[in-house]
Amino acid sequence: STVRLLGAADIRRLAAELDVTPTKKLGQNFVVDANTVRKIVTAARVTGDERVVEIGPGLGSLTLAILETGASVTAVEIDPRLASRLAQTASEQGVEDGKLTVVEHDALTVTELPGDPEVLVANLPYNVSVPVLLHFMETFEGLRRGVVMVQAEVGERLAAAPGSKIYGAPSAKAAWYGQWRLAGTVSRQVFWPVPNVDSVLVGFERAGEALGSEADRLDTFRIIDLAFQQRRKMLRQALSRELGGSAAASEILEAAGVEPTARGEALDVHAFFRIAQAVREAR
Ligand code: SAM
Repeated sequence: STVRLLGAADIRRLAAELDVTPTKKLGQNFVVDANTVRKIVTAARVTGDERVVEIGPGLGSLTLAILETGASVTAVEIDPRLASRLAQTASEQGVEDGKLTVVEHDALTVTELPGDPEVLVANLPYNVSVPVLLHFMETFEGLRRGVVMVQAEVGERLAAAPGSKIYGAPSAKAAWYGQWRLAGTVSRQVFWPVPNVDSVLVGFERAGEALGSEADRLDTFRIIDLAFQQRRKMLRQALSRELGGSAAASEILEAAGVEPTARGEALDVHAFFRIAQAVREAR
């Protein structure tokens, strides 16, 4: 059976039928271009026997392109009007029964998903893209790789290496889970409504082995947050309050093999993890 993708006219017809006016609050910018959704699925290298999770399926443009490969999809949508129409759209467009499961839930707080998904593919709601990604990496350990569309600046941040201007807390936290790379750019013109910024595709590959335990992660993220709260400060100052003064902070940083006068933007996630471990040993 062949799946028919949605065109611009289908999107507008469905929105009108559901009386949906896209809202900024939910980051509702729908893709109205079949080439773009195919490009996302190709970048994710989805194959027909894989289990995919999609965050924010909306009216179903990207969902259908994933289903076109033969993969099965679990789609998590917060807006009840969109969530309740999706299964019908899939069936109207030629999707086989049982291939799509719709979960009406806030993706930021969902903790269980049917179908044990292994690949994430999504055009993320822009206002929550980073927290939702980190939540999924943390909660669904079976997710091995994925491709998401985010606004250009966020994507560049996720993929940034230490030392670059835009390297920040999201870059270091994302790196805890694996490797991130830019995988293409997308014009704002493929969306309805047209947003104020262009988008990029970001691909990730989970590391074969977790860097550390959940306690390790929480301690490391705490150090990352402190280091970037005062981005321009040297680490020994940025961490001084937490570590009992700047002399104590310097000692701990040296024990971790980190220059006390360095700034957070110079450190990779491994260095942040060493600092967290040195803090623990000093207590
Ligand atoms: N995938 C569709 C597309 O490409 O046309 C829609 C993408 S749109 C950028 C983001 C979607 O995420 C919207 O459908 C919106 O309702 C949904 N959404 C927003 N916040 C969400 C959340 N916290 N949890 C789940 N879905 C959310």
